[in-house]
Amino acid sequence: MRIEWASSLMLQLGQLWQNKQLAPSLLITGDMGIGVSETAHAIAELFRCRNQTNGKRCGQCHDCRLIDADTHPDFLLVAPDEGKKQIGVDKVRKANEFATTRPQVAACKVILIDQAERLNTASANAILKTLEEPASSVVFILATERPGQLLPTIRSRCQSYVVPMPTPEQALSYLDDIAQKQTLLDLARGRPVLAASLEDTMASREKLLALFAGLLDGKLNAVEAASGMAKLEVEHLMTWLQAWLVDLVKASLGQQQALQDPNGLVELIDQALPSDKLMKWVDQQISDISAMRRGASLNLQSWLESMLIDFMSLCWGER
Ligand SMILES: [Zn+2]
Repeated sequence: MRIEWASSLMLQLGQLWQNKQLAPSLLITGDMGIGVSETAHAIAELFRCRNQTNGKRCGQCHDCRLIDADTHPDFLLVAPDEGKKQIGVDKVRKANEFATTRPQVAACKVILIDQAERLNTASANAILKTLEEPASSVVFILATERPGQLLPTIRSRCQSYVVPMPTPEQALSYLDDIAQKQTLLDLARGRPVLAASLEDTMASREKLLALFAGLLDGKLNAVEAASGMAKLEVEHLMTWLQAWLVDLVKASLGQQQALQDPNGLVELIDQALPSDKLMKWVDQQISDISAMRRGASLNLQSWLESMLIDFMSLCWGER
């Protein structure tokens, strides 16, 4: 899947590269979930291709073949290890060493520091020295969705470029053959890369909505529905529960076009859910969800039970 909306940025960088006007250190930023990391990888590939045109690598040359085989000797990726929050200083030392040797195949070496906001103090200081005295045959690419978390001294050493937001058409076309792409895109607020990453949560969404339907039909009580929900993968549950809560508010405000569960909700809203109480209740649930995501220790089963009991009394209690 290509980041089509970054093509003018790629074109600009490709031209600077060919005219030898490129800064030795680049900072690639942009909003969360729109492909900052993917774009930085594409730029790192572009700089190694010997026949790049119009911001695209050729896909045919010796360098491109090495890139496709993931064996290009003049490229180093620096990123946090799986499950690790920080980029350790050992990785940066390795990059600094890599930067001191001559390129083997390409015109220059490319070092990509992905999720650069995860450099800790020691690793940030270690990379800073190299950025201050760049070797002529090395390009550093730092990529981050959170540039504010970088040391200002690192930011000021780099030329910054921003990946723009995609248009709705570009976003849909990126999701290509993914089922329910418009729903995913709505949930991800127009951010296609984030939307694609949510695809494997869709089965959890169906189960969650079925449990809500069972509760509203009176086929399940709150304890039974809660225990069904507690069996879902917790991160999927949080994502879709939050989306459902936001939709509940939208429905109560008469915005019915973006609903995750149109029929069930519209029926409820027709029964005049008290909207001030609803807002307050939704706020509380969303803040509980955020707290749980930050690691607060709430008992999930009892939280779900009391959430559902409150919801049912909001729906039916006023009449
Ligand atoms: Zn090529």
